[in-house]
Amino acid sequence: MTSRTMDGCIKCGACVRECPVLLQEGQDRFPGPRRLAVEGPRFNEELSALRSPLELCTTCARCTAACPSALPLPEALVQVRRLLYREKPRPERQENMLANIDGTLRTVLPSGPVTELPSTGDVLFFPGCIGHGRYPEGITSSLSLIRAVGGRPFAPQGWACCGSPLEKIGDEQRLARLEAHNKALFRGFDTVVTSCPGCTVQLRKRYGLDPQHIIEHIHGSGRLRRSSFDHGSPPIKVALHSPCHLARVVGPHTLEMARDLLDMVPGVDVVSTGLEDDCCGGGGGVASARPDVAERMAARKVQAAVEAGAELLLAPCPFCVINLGRTGLLNVQDLTVFLASRLLKAEGIYSPIP
Ligand code: SF4
Ligand code: SF4
Repeated sequence: MTSRTMDGCIKCGACVRECPVLLQEGQDRFPGPRRLAVEGPRFNEELSALRSPLELCTTCARCTAACPSALPLPEALVQVRRLLYREKPRPERQENMLANIDGTLRTVLPSGPVTELPSTGDVLFFPGCIGHGRYPEGITSSLSLIRAVGGRPFAPQGWACCGSPLEKIGDEQRLARLEAHNKALFRGFDTVVTSCPGCTVQLRKRYGLDPQHIIEHIHGSGRLRRSSFDHGSPPIKVALHSPCHLARVVGPHTLEMARDLLDMVPGVDVVSTGLEDDCCGGGGGVASARPDVAERMAARKVQAAVEAGAELLLAPCPFCVINLGRTGLLNVQDLTVFLASRLLKAEGIYSPIP
């Protein structure tokens, strides 16, 4: 299936020139999308030899965006991963994730207190494992923003991982189990709001739902404006990171929405880093399988934000926030956390979490 889909390759090399992992790690460590997704499988190369390089693909979709034939290269790479999934040993972090899923239906166990999620309301909110277990302030701020635009958010009790990490590593069995579990909980709902772009994409692709990322939800409501935000907050220079799965897969309109929302906040100066669209390295399972590679990619971006004079780096994605924050070079926050912190509380637009 992969090779037939890839027959449209005209060998122009655009995907190779654009791949951020290849550019950073070099062709010896990561031969790039054409070699791995087009040529490797076609010539029946020894699959095992592809395993280590395949772990490095962040599924950022930059190659597809550059490809004149618009070939689905990340999907083809994931297909090859699926062929290799049964091989052991797997990376320890991956084994831990699988054990967590088998025990709790979620990829991570909470590392501290979690945000309490209402069980009734009129806006179905899907928190996602990483946000819920590792970045509760992102969940709190998403709930606040949904309330600020007039909704009553709730999460179904016993929700499970959306399955995105399992799809990226090729575990079809566990993936099917999680999907069946969630689909039963979502029955009767067409829309769902997420705070993680990976969940947004997964719910759209595999669940037949019409998910909205939180940025789409609050921007699309039309209820936030400059007067919604506190004019007394100190001025700040921020840089904006564009998450690959949000801007390239959900759609480039999301970045415009993020910029629009930031423009509404008084005192905010958005500085340009020149690397806004570059992958942070946090996706595609790379942060768990190859954290060294993910951290090198993140450091390059954060350093650019520091050099541009940013005091804060914002990203509308908990995965990106955590990966960029690991560098310790600059304060990194989810865009929702920043927006919620600047809402004009005195006018009752902001509803504190009960
Ligand atoms: S999805 Fe991104 S990391 Fe993977 S091959 Fe394409 S450009 Fe490279
Ligand atoms: S950009 Fe597309 S057509 Fe060009 S080499 Fe890569 S896969 Fe082939």
